[in-house]
Amino acid sequence: MKLVFIGPPGAGKGTQAERICADNSIKQLSTGDILRHNVKIESKLGVGAKEYMTSGRLVPDELIIEMIKEELKSLEYANGFLLDGFPRTIPQAQAFDELLKKLNTKIDLVLLLDVPDEEIISRLSGRRICRTCNRVFHISFNPPPDPKDCDRGICDIYQRDDDKEETVRHRLDVYHNQTKPLVDYYKSQNLVAYIDGIGSLDEVYDRIKSNLQHKFK
Ligand code: AMP
Repeated sequence: MKLVFIGPPGAGKGTQAERICADNSIKQLSTGDILRHNVKIESKLGVGAKEYMTSGRLVPDELIIEMIKEELKSLEYANGFLLDGFPRTIPQAQAFDELLKKLNTKIDLVLLLDVPDEEIISRLSGRRICRTCNRVFHISFNPPPDPKDCDRGICDIYQRDDDKEETVRHRLDVYHNQTKPLVDYYKSQNLVAYIDGIGSLDEVYDRIKSNLQHKFK
């Protein structure tokens, strides 16, 4: 099972990807997570990527393609994978197609998780994360606990730099201009499954599951 997840930032790809991977014994590959880890450990890649990430711009294609080539060498992906956050541009998709050809394989399905911009802005600008336990909260819908009452130790709540409203709007522009064209790219290969991303986590997951069952029956 080789899947690609496309959708605007904050559509819920990361959360749904975890469930899809756990249920199908495939490995999740999130370019955002790999980049954030590299920023944290101040690797050469992280130092090169940081400025782009905090301003909501895309990291240059060459860096990302190199990173993916290295990452996919790991045997952990041999059983199948779900790409979350890659490809994000047409050149990335083309480079990825070439890489897959060399590996004698191809993508089975592209899941397009659709959520309108206004909903994304409300979700992301209210998102807060705990540095200690990595849990994700929302100031209105799922408020973080008082630090003293956190049941997993002391909560250290922060807002991702790129979740500030202005940056979110910029990330959405980047998505519409640079990533959305991938939908036509993959539609022409008959690979796209459209998923309505509005609803509870379970509702959205059920929609994804029925698409996977249809494809892999
Ligand atoms: P994400 O967590 O997927 O929203 O990614 C966070 C940030 O990492 C993005 O806003 C980009 O700056 C960078 N990034 C992640 N994946 C890619 C990619 N495939 N191409 C370029 N930049 C990326």
